[in-house]
Amino acid sequence: MNTRNAYKIRARKAAASRASAPTGRHATAPVGLGISPSAAATPDTDTPAALFPHPACSTLPSQSCRHPLTDGNANARLAHCEEFVKGKFDAIEPTLKTIAGLPYTNEFAERAQQVARQALEFDLPEQLLNDAWVVGPDMKALYAHCAFAALKASAAKFVDDLNRQVETVQDTRNFFLDCGFHAVDISPCADGRLKGLTRYILRLPLSSFTRRKAYAGALFDVETDVHHWEETELRRFREGVPTTADAGTRYLKIAVYHTSSSAPSEQGCAAHGSNENKAIQAAMERLTQFREAIENAFCCGASTDILLIGVDTDTDAIKVHVPDGNGDISQHRFIDNAELYKETLALSEDQARIKIYDTIISPNVKSPGWGSGQGEPHEGMRRLIANLLINNMSQIEYVGDLYGGRYPDIGHAERYISVGDGFEEVQMRNVAYYAHLHTLEEGVADMDVGIKIFTGLNAKRGLPIPVAIHYRYDARVPGSRERSIAKAERVRDAINARYDDLVAKGLLHCHLSVQDRPTGSPIETVGEDA
Ligand SMILES: [Zn+2]
Repeated sequence: MNTRNAYKIRARKAAASRASAPTGRHATAPVGLGISPSAAATPDTDTPAALFPHPACSTLPSQSCRHPLTDGNANARLAHCEEFVKGKFDAIEPTLKTIAGLPYTNEFAERAQQVARQALEFDLPEQLLNDAWVVGPDMKALYAHCAFAALKASAAKFVDDLNRQVETVQDTRNFFLDCGFHAVDISPCADGRLKGLTRYILRLPLSSFTRRKAYAGALFDVETDVHHWEETELRRFREGVPTTADAGTRYLKIAVYHTSSSAPSEQGCAAHGSNENKAIQAAMERLTQFREAIENAFCCGASTDILLIGVDTDTDAIKVHVPDGNGDISQHRFIDNAELYKETLALSEDQARIKIYDTIISPNVKSPGWGSGQGEPHEGMRRLIANLLINNMSQIEYVGDLYGGRYPDIGHAERYISVGDGFEEVQMRNVAYYAHLHTLEEGVADMDVGIKIFTGLNAKRGLPIPVAIHYRYDARVPGSRERSIAKAERVRDAINARYDDLVAKGLLHCHLSVQDRPTGSPIETVGEDA
């Protein structure tokens, strides 16, 4: 299949629908990619696009711009992947409605199975269908089963995508090394809207990062990261991997915060009360603490670099806080990629590249004096930043083509709650709400917020809240798998006890799975309520 053409058709259809739609709430809803009813129901699109001109392309939402440095083929592949994953979830409700309308005759189970296979490409549990003649089919249990099946199909799709990226991963690692980084450790906020960060927003292969872990508000644990740094450096000393200990390469730590340009005080980072300043300050503080911890404990030569990136979750455009010659970052010294996209739009490919490199040397300084730094970042850092900015320009265009420049679901439209380690392979925006926890007690605040969000998205409409409890284990460690299963069961029991009113009404279903540590390992279901 020619995915690029399919993408163009979808993008054209989306543009045509926008042009003919009346201005208002759903004026930017695309035709090309199905948006779930739950997404459309989220009351956060009261901000007409006209009030907020697109920061990168002035002809949006009606028409996309074409930048000389963007990659249309990659956009087509990613659109195909997004359509597959969101389509899997969005097909559930209409399919179950069809099944609910079937007569409960002797052929009910068989016909329901046929409908499911055709529309969803998986089977429904026989038991649930066979019991339907008593009081009708248990649609809540069927819904939960379908949501978990869609999740597994999506994870398999991403694993397949990862396996195809093996060479790109090596290329990217070599590129990091060429830039002088022997390890790149990234900590974004755990918000579901940043879940497409590596694959979509930064366009880097997931496994090219040495470490990646999301934390609420990007508030990563400094001690844990120092420990990761020690492991990395020990490996260089003992094995010379990926560079020998005497090579002058560095360890790069990146933190990623987020904001919402159309509703900055409501749809920003929940962990920082949607306050952009607080989000930036908090991330900068952790980065600086990390660097100082290593300098204090390991003295000279233990060089680390830090980098801060912001994402506008409405448009996916990034801001890069450019370090100065000393490696220091400032809240006020950054490059806004939406602006840079606009400034370089009419240039040739070469001119655009030159302009990007020039901007990195003299980034926009918001307040004179405040953001000025001591000299330019080192050459490797400049190359890395240029690469990130250029990659992100493709994503700005992607959101322009498929969504008129701004996602219609600027708020919550997640499909399931992910508890535990999360499905790191599923790299897509707004598919899951994350509650990283090993015991319910430690993550109870996150979990309560998730349940509240899903009460609005699902339970109010009589649909159950799918909770996917997932833990990774290390097959090299004896007993690790069994301990992970026991942990998943413990967390499930605690969740069922805390939200027993929802469970009693059939409005909360848990699915338990475990997975070996290496990225792309198979996901093993070890328990399902339905
Ligand atoms: Zn956040």
